Amino acid sequence: MKRVAMHIAAALAVAGVGAFTGAQAQEYPGGKPVQAVVPFAAGGPTDKVARELTMIMSKHLGTTIVIENLGGAGGTIGAKKVAQSKGDGYTILIHHIGMSTAPALYRNLGFDPLKDFEMVGEVADVPMVMVGNKQLPPATFKDLIPYIKANAAKLSLANAGIGSASHLCGLLFQSAIQTELTTVPYKGTAPALTDILGGQVNLMCDQTTNIAGQLKAGALKPYAAMQSRRVEAFKDIPTAAEQGLPGVEVKIWHAMYAPKGTPKPIIDKLSAALQKSVQDPTFRAKMAELGAEAVPAQRATPDSLRTFLTSEINKWTPVIKKAGVYAD
Ligand code: ASP
Repeated sequence: MKRVAMHIAAALAVAGVGAFTGAQAQEYPGGKPVQAVVPFAAGGPTDKVARELTMIMSKHLGTTIVIENLGGAGGTIGAKKVAQSKGDGYTILIHHIGMSTAPALYRNLGFDPLKDFEMVGEVADVPMVMVGNKQLPPATFKDLIPYIKANAAKLSLANAGIGSASHLCGLLFQSAIQTELTTVPYKGTAPALTDILGGQVNLMCDQTTNIAGQLKAGALKPYAAMQSRRVEAFKDIPTAAEQGLPGVEVKIWHAMYAPKGTPKPIIDKLSAALQKSVQDPTFRAKMAELGAEAVPAQRATPDSLRTFLTSEINKWTPVIKKAGVYAD
């Protein structure tokens, strides 16, 4: 009997089940730091959302949350690492819309966003703006389109890899104007922005969380807001639709996940801390200043994220399949 019990315990331990006792989960986080993987380069848009959030959330969770930037392959490298991590609450993932597009873009993804993660909740929505370097001759988006059509061979469009927000936005844009540009992938839009400013690449569709400072300083040409209404913090930038190109709209949502098997009491603690953080006036104000919007508390929950992620996967899969784009 004792031997059977030992075998069962060993099998459960291998499966990672029961690695935590209820009491251990109750003690979480117990003063131990939590590592939040951001699957893009430091200083970029996803990193900015994550850093502002974790600064506040550390206080609500009662422990330090340390960010690890693990960029590459449109965010899939970092996400895969978290999917394969121990579900003990000390490794979490902060990712964006790419979580819903990767299954269609990567045939050998190596993880399933819905099956290999526990949902914690949504974080913030961030708009995108098409920007170019100051040396580009067109002054407006309306002028940019014929200019691109005439000079496509010598123009480049930066992105943060296949499946990144900048890639998706660029895809929609190129398909809307029926012109292909040379695309240049980076580990995140922070390094891409350096090259845009330096004139090594010409255009990029980026999140306002990355370019707010340069937009305010007039260091970039802001061609169009890629959403149906103007961005609150950048009201002077007209939308693509206002300038004759309707339908190119991408809202970049961000969310938090933990590896599959993370005990429910831990997920509940993470989600409660996330809900407090998204309501925190400092976080809300910081997001607004960067042109973004913290989600309401009811969206910062596991159930809401699961429903939303499922609907986003169902929305993007046929679009990507139809475009015939694959990353691998
Ligand atoms: N979120 C960016 C993108 O998908 C990448 C980044 O955070 O650097 O384009």
